[in-house]
Amino acid sequence: MTEGSFLHELTGSMSQGAAGNPTVAMIEAAFAHHGLHWRYVNMEVTPENLVAAVRGAKAMGFRGFNCSLPHKVTVIPHLDGLGESAALMGAVNCVVRRGDKFVGENTDGKGFLKSLETAIDPKGKSVVLFGAGGAARAIAVELGLAGTKRITIVNRSEARGAELVALLREKLKLDAELVVWSGDYAVPTGTDVVINGTSIGLYAPEARLALDLTSLKPGMVVADVVFSPVRTKFLDDASARGCRAIDGLGMLVNQGIVGVEYWTGITPDAAVMRKALETAMGL
Ligand code: NDP
Repeated sequence: MTEGSFLHELTGSMSQGAAGNPTVAMIEAAFAHHGLHWRYVNMEVTPENLVAAVRGAKAMGFRGFNCSLPHKVTVIPHLDGLGESAALMGAVNCVVRRGDKFVGENTDGKGFLKSLETAIDPKGKSVVLFGAGGAARAIAVELGLAGTKRITIVNRSEARGAELVALLREKLKLDAELVVWSGDYAVPTGTDVVINGTSIGLYAPEARLALDLTSLKPGMVVADVVFSPVRTKFLDDASARGCRAIDGLGMLVNQGIVGVEYWTGITPDAAVMRKALETAMGL
């Protein structure tokens, strides 16, 4: 540790296009609220500089960092180990110093789960999940680890969907099936949770999921990964049908909470973090 660094424990985020990231405001609000003399700084790291950046963070005593696209997979060979779900997903968005080791974790799915659990315990439940990209993959793996009974992956690209279903079946022994998405999908009777894990609706308030809305029944829990707008058309339509809606901001706040817990060992105040995030996003 360099002289003077006793004032601050450092964490950070490695991404491309790092400017103006509301996550910084959210994490630093948590540090300030809990009297932690820590900093969370945002650094733009290009792919060719990733190895040097990870080594540098270790050398400078960083307690950890988030990494976003395009580093979530390529960072893995430069770490000392992986947490259970990150190993299953093959993607890391949160690095945690444990002793002298940098361990890769994935907080996206964990954040989603925490948010979902405010409405329903996914254990033993049947879930329909739209999407098979990074976010959907993280969510599906955490749902599997949490004891979800059945997952139907509904995805446009068959190859991507099949890859996720194979992972769920082979590594988590889950009852998982793929529906290749074409036309309006009808949610099967008996489904407990319906999740939009695609980017449909991101910055597009009018965008609709190809979904037969009459198949959404009162009492179903409906969740969206999209956080801008916070109230997506999908959530509005589902609420109008009597479903309980969980927005994507909850996932974003909770993945931040899990990160702070990993780094500092304290559970931060969720309301403080959500408020800071909303302010930074101009909500
Ligand atoms: P990816 O690019 O990895 O995956 C995108 C997914 O959306 C794929 O399944 C893709 O299907 C599907 N998709 C995109 N456009 C369409 C379309 N027009 N019709 C049908 N399917 C479509 O993205 P990520 O998984 O990383 O991110 C997805 C969303 O999750 C983003 O909006 C992101 O902002 C959000 N997110 C939110 C977080 C939070 O904390 N709230 C955290 C992380 C992500 P296909 O395979 O066929 O291409």
